[in-house]
Amino acid sequence: MIPLDYHMHSSFSEDGASSPEKMCHQAIKLGLPEIGFTEHWDVGPFEKNPRFFQPEPWYAELERLRDLFAGKLTIRAGIEVAEPHLYPQPAAEVLTRTPFDYVLGSVHFVGPHFMFDEAYFRTHTADEVYLAYFAEVETLLQTADLDILAHLDLPVRTAKPIFGYDPTRYKDQIRCILRMVIERNLALDVNAAGLRKTAQNLMPDPLILKWYAEMGGERITLGSDAHAASQVGLHLDAALEAVRAAGISHVTQFERRQAHLISL
Ligand SMILES: [Zn+2]
Ligand SMILES: [Zn+2]
Repeated sequence: MIPLDYHMHSSFSEDGASSPEKMCHQAIKLGLPEIGFTEHWDVGPFEKNPRFFQPEPWYAELERLRDLFAGKLTIRAGIEVAEPHLYPQPAAEVLTRTPFDYVLGSVHFVGPHFMFDEAYFRTHTADEVYLAYFAEVETLLQTADLDILAHLDLPVRTAKPIFGYDPTRYKDQIRCILRMVIERNLALDVNAAGLRKTAQNLMPDPLILKWYAEMGGERITLGSDAHAASQVGLHLDAALEAVRAAGISHVTQFERRQAHLISL
């Protein structure tokens, strides 16, 4: 059984296609006991639609759905804050507007470069791209307020079809990130979105999950990163298999930003 899906975007995100209610129905259909909505909070200068997310009407809708699906589905209020280390003020401000169960911290941009922009990858080397990304994640972890580090090796989604991906080449940088995650008691978002793309790669890569477990890391969440109801829970079976194979035996639940580990 898949215990939860903690990374999904509804139509309250700029790029989400389905209503939260539709996504809840899909979760129930799949037998998922718990989900978390994590709408995008994007405020950077290169965003197409900054500050699109409005927490108040969204939270009211989640409260309605919590009543509607009581006893069938646990619904968490999460948020995906992009580059919180660069925009600490709006990152903090949004968290005061409604209660949140957890905060995903993510890097989507390195400088002006969007991590899904193929042109960026075609004009840079693999080392330039991956090293710049991991350095940005490290900077995020130094100061940002978060509970879960989202998609640790996100460039793989666009970069792998262009020039492959060998995490061992960046082992030192990645282990530094993992050490910070462990020291800060954060969780890793085991993100299956890469499995529905050409890259066919779990994020983080299964090898990184192994390093994490070897280093004593045990906090993970599972996320489809669904942007439509049909993607809810998608490929989380494969994600869970990789988690278990790495030797991780718990999944982490969050409620009002308190972590609870449950056995797998
Ligand atoms: Zn993201
Ligand atoms: Zn996301």
